[in-house]
Amino acid sequence: MSKHLVVFGHGQGDPGAVGNGYQEANFTRNILGPRLKAWAAKLKNTQVDFYNESLDMYQQSQAGGGAYSVNGYASVTEFHLDAASAVATGGHVIINAKYSPDANDLAIGKVLEKYVGLWGSSRPTGTFGRSDLLNCNVFSNRGISYRLVELGFISNASDVKKLVDNIDAIAKELIEAITGESLGGSSSNNTNDNNSSKPKTHDDYVTESPIQKANGQEAKLELMKEVKTGVLTVGGWQGPGNHKYGFIFLMDRKTGKELARVASAGIVRNDVNKHLGVANGLKYGMKADFDMKKFTNKNVYVMFRRTNDRAGNTAGGAVDFHFKDLALTMPKR
Ligand SMILES: [Zn+2]
Repeated sequence: MSKHLVVFGHGQGDPGAVGNGYQEANFTRNILGPRLKAWAAKLKNTQVDFYNESLDMYQQSQAGGGAYSVNGYASVTEFHLDAASAVATGGHVIINAKYSPDANDLAIGKVLEKYVGLWGSSRPTGTFGRSDLLNCNVFSNRGISYRLVELGFISNASDVKKLVDNIDAIAKELIEAITGESLGGSSSNNTNDNNSSKPKTHDDYVTESPIQKANGQEAKLELMKEVKTGVLTVGGWQGPGNHKYGFIFLMDRKTGKELARVASAGIVRNDVNKHLGVANGLKYGMKADFDMKKFTNKNVYVMFRRTNDRAGNTAGGAVDFHFKDLALTMPKR
């Protein structure tokens, strides 16, 4: 029977990151932990044990115990939550950068993707290699399979809500992913969230789309929707930088050619400024309306541009972001 060890991050006086009413140490131990244990108790062919919850494995490892003293397990999975700006979102599975993800890493990534979405840099697998984590390196040197799971961002209210609302289903599927054993029975979550039942809408895909990064800037498409009949409203942000103008383009997905452009007023977005680490009051928010009648049946996507050219061309320097994966076919209006 293969045995697996689950470890809750932090503890032993270290609360970990704090946000939205929780600390990492008590979220993993008190919210997720009891559900994981209940599902682990139903395993028939495999076994999941839990590392001493009064201890912080990291501190134990620093003292020469912890990861150095764990034996007899086919894998070790350590749970954490991430923290950054309020707009950072999604979970990911950290493995040692020396390795490729195994089937269990990928299965855990799928669970995170299903319930909280994936942190942008971990797409599409949900895994991310690092070589600077103590426990990760100790287990790697000892030849024991180890992963550190960031369940989502504790700093993001929506991530925390998705985790809490679906905690029993998440716990069940995590135990299945860790062990590879399927569990019967259904989870007790009964929420109105659309995560598991309703198919995702284009709005959902836009909302959940990752922040793009290129050329020293970041951009996020947040809205691409017929808010008023016949009007496609597009919004998001792009920054930082000193470009004078922001433009939103509608592009033809098939030809890659521009269909229309609208200059956006600069919109103050201090949540974005915080995320970018720049001063409050900077206007990196963007918004524009397009008349849908002009683009009937066209498959369109959005491009953001920051430029020094008043007409929205690239003269004087410009940075573009293409949101090709979020194309929409324009209905007749
Ligand atoms: Zn942590």
